[in-house]
Amino acid sequence: MFILLLGAPGSGKGTQGKILAERMGLPKITTGDILRAAVQAGSDLGREAKKFMDEGKLVPDSVVLGLIKTELDKPEAKEGAIFDGFPRTAAQAQLVDQTLGERGQRLSHVLLFDVPEEELIRRMRARAAQERRSDDTPEAIKTRLQVYQRDTAPLVAHYAQRGVMHRVPGAGTIEDIATEIKRLIGR
Ligand code: AMP
Repeated sequence: MFILLLGAPGSGKGTQGKILAERMGLPKITTGDILRAAVQAGSDLGREAKKFMDEGKLVPDSVVLGLIKTELDKPEAKEGAIFDGFPRTAAQAQLVDQTLGERGQRLSHVLLFDVPEEELIRRMRARAAQERRSDDTPEAIKTRLQVYQRDTAPLVAHYAQRGVMHRVPGAGTIEDIATEIKRLIGR
């Protein structure tokens, strides 16, 4: 089963994705984590990605499409996975559709994390104090929210047409939201 987590930065995708992945025994593929690890390691990928990440911009598709393809082709992701942080652009969505389609697979569920902007900003600021991520600065937070609206929010319409999308409410405790997700996907 392939499940896509869609939502703005700070909407809780990472937290809920971790719970869901453990509960369902599925791998979680998180492009943000992979890119941050590449930056830490100082690899070619990390060097290319860092500037965009620090500014809160998307790493270009020319870099990310290859990364996504590699992840989807890994043996552990052949039967199912949770996608966290991608697709974020139309080209990425097309690659995911095409790769799964060629294997006779499709997304089973798209979970849309619906959180008001003031709450997103509050959460990202709280996280900045804890994790010291280089892209949780006020300017980068603003850019990331704008980029979400411009490049990623249009994917909502793309997936809504397929009847596999569920809206996950942002309000509530972590446990409440996890329970709601369980109800929405029926397992
Ligand atoms: P995240 O942890 O998902 O908020 O990602 C942190 C940053 O990594 C983003 O602001 C982007 O710069 C980059 N990033 C993560 N995933 C993607 C993606 N699918 N496409 C482009 N850039 C990405």
